[in-house]
Amino acid sequence: MQSTSIKKIYSNIDSIISGEKTRKSIKENIGNTLKDLIFYMPYKIVSAYYCNAWNDLENKKKVLIKVRVNKHYFGFPRSNIPYRISVIFDNKTINLVFFSKYTGYLKSIYKEGEDITISGTLATYGKKFQILHPTVVDLNTINPETNTINTLFYRQKGGLKSSIIHKSILKTLPLIPEIEEWHSRFKERYPLMPSWKEALNNIHLGNDNNILEDSSIHLLRLAYDEILANQLSLEIIRNSINKEKSNNYNKDSKNIISKFINCLEFNLTIDQRKNVEEIIKDLNFDNKMLRLLHGDVGSGKTIVALISALHVINSGYQVAFLAPTEILAIQHYNFVKKKFKQLNINVFLLTASIDNKKQIINKIKSDEKNLVIGTHALLQKNIIFKNLSYVIIDEQHRFGVNQRISIRNKGKKVDMLLMSATPIPRTMLLANLGDISVSTVKQKPFNTKINTILKSDRNIKKVISFIKEKIKYGKVFWICPYIDSSTQENNSSSIEERYKILKSSFDEVGYLHGKLPIEEKNQVLKQFKDGKIKLLISTVVIEVGIDIPDANIIIIDHADRFGLAQTHQLRGRVGRGENNGTCILLYKEPLSETAKERLIVIKNSYDGFELSEKDLIMRGGGEILGKNQYGYEDFIFFDISIHQDLLKMATLEATDILNNDPNLASDRGKKLIDLLYLFEKNKAIDFISAG
Ligand code: ADP
Ligand code: MG
Repeated sequence: MQSTSIKKIYSNIDSIISGEKTRKSIKENIGNTLKDLIFYMPYKIVSAYYCNAWNDLENKKKVLIKVRVNKHYFGFPRSNIPYRISVIFDNKTINLVFFSKYTGYLKSIYKEGEDITISGTLATYGKKFQILHPTVVDLNTINPETNTINTLFYRQKGGLKSSIIHKSILKTLPLIPEIEEWHSRFKERYPLMPSWKEALNNIHLGNDNNILEDSSIHLLRLAYDEILANQLSLEIIRNSINKEKSNNYNKDSKNIISKFINCLEFNLTIDQRKNVEEIIKDLNFDNKMLRLLHGDVGSGKTIVALISALHVINSGYQVAFLAPTEILAIQHYNFVKKKFKQLNINVFLLTASIDNKKQIINKIKSDEKNLVIGTHALLQKNIIFKNLSYVIIDEQHRFGVNQRISIRNKGKKVDMLLMSATPIPRTMLLANLGDISVSTVKQKPFNTKINTILKSDRNIKKVISFIKEKIKYGKVFWICPYIDSSTQENNSSSIEERYKILKSSFDEVGYLHGKLPIEEKNQVLKQFKDGKIKLLISTVVIEVGIDIPDANIIIIDHADRFGLAQTHQLRGRVGRGENNGTCILLYKEPLSETAKERLIVIKNSYDGFELSEKDLIMRGGGEILGKNQYGYEDFIFFDISIHQDLLKMATLEATDILNNDPNLASDRGKKLIDLLYLFEKNKAIDFISAG
């Protein structure tokens, strides 16, 4: 049950935000409830210092000064001449400059001959001083201790200005109830810990210049709230899954598995065999399985998962294999269909755009022993399984917790294997999946090398002639960060632009991106596989698992825009056959220090485990596309690259809490349920009440 405090926090903002336009925009862009507003964090705080004379202004960019208004000069927006007001400060003139269209109101605020206090950034324009778009300040709001006024900045959204967002948040603050304290361990470590309400109040009031620093106790508290709620919910779900009984797979599957292995074109690696054994052992265990299978790109995880599926199907059950894209689902389907047919096992493919959907849906409902490969389309309500017992999720991070739970609920006593395309660093694993069982594939089947080369895009002509030579012997990927140039300040980074240039140098060029219709995507991929296209320009849609063994060169355009782990994943598209691969990282100058460092790290390492650990630490710094590449939990306060110690502490505390009070029924438990509600961990709460 939610406490009254939580209900209050989730109340609607209608009666609080009065302006209809602002209210509508806040609802669309930030959220409907008090909680959405107070959880919207400022990203920056700027202090303006009150100055009496020019001498005080030295070195201060942002100033706070009392000026006398002198004269207004009308602007001509069409000719780009701004509205100006000259003011006098300590006997010198400063021009206040306004580029806005609507300047009518300025006369009534800046009254000629009167004093007014303003803040803004002092700059020089020619020989004159000016302040662009100053803010009028109420002198009473100056902090007397520091002589400053702080301004908080919130990310603008859908035309909502930072100042409007801040004003709206300030209106909600007095309505926020205090909630009974749930922390104990954190308080022992940080005796000066503010209460939940104090922390939020102090952040949004912004009186303290250091409130947004990493070391701010206010932020730390909220980060701990968030990560504790997260770890608690993961632990609750895990406990409940591990307690439940699973189905029995007692039919011996040795024969069918070796038949399958015999029809492969290769032998399994030792590591693959080890992982198969480990997973089957866990499947045979009395209780349900929840396990992660991860390993480096190209380590052959798919086969491992498929063999474990065979074990389950052999005992007469259905297995669902979920893939994040149609391309990938089709690739898995094509690989396994014939091989399973020889073993008398049906394989069905279900994606949004297959032709015979009705028929397939019926088969899934009536045929009891098969493998169903599909995309998100499998999650829909009308898909009913005859006797689903095992779910495998490839690229698990592309599916949310709720989606994972909803596919599980399509069967009885379902076991689960989550797969990840790249190795997941330990801390990331803890924060996103909790303390779950893990199988790791370390060894790769091929000993091929990938030579990684850094090139400035000023040398693009050389790169093109290099490819011209090499393309006689194999195929080439060319990866761009964007599809079209319309959204980018930087034109050359789009497929559109590169296609224009490369078309004139090569005959057999094609392109691929996520927005193409699926038939076209498949067509292009097929042409690439068949060799009708030899140079494929693509966005990161090919990042995920695409397997074209005779493509051996990859160019990553604007390589500085991708994260480490993602670049590694992209690079893993080549060198998959017998031959060594080449990866050219094309970058645009000038390159920031962090970007340079990142490219050198990737050039020098081909170990996905090492790279994903580094990626975690090196986040930020010019990384645009890489940010969400793990697609993991979106935290508001908690930041995995700086709060690793909080994560450890929360994981331990969550385990202790649940050991002592599994249903959170004690007094403290009830307070922790409030905490779970606060961070929308409702799913976990359902598990408690169900158990
Ligand atoms: P990932 O682990 O990145 O998902 P895949 O499962 O897609 O890797 O396997 C990569 C490629 O290696 C595929 O073409 C697959 O058929 C092949 N492969 C898998 N295992 C072996 C092996 N033991 N020997 C040779 N090739 C293998
Ligand atoms: Mg894969």
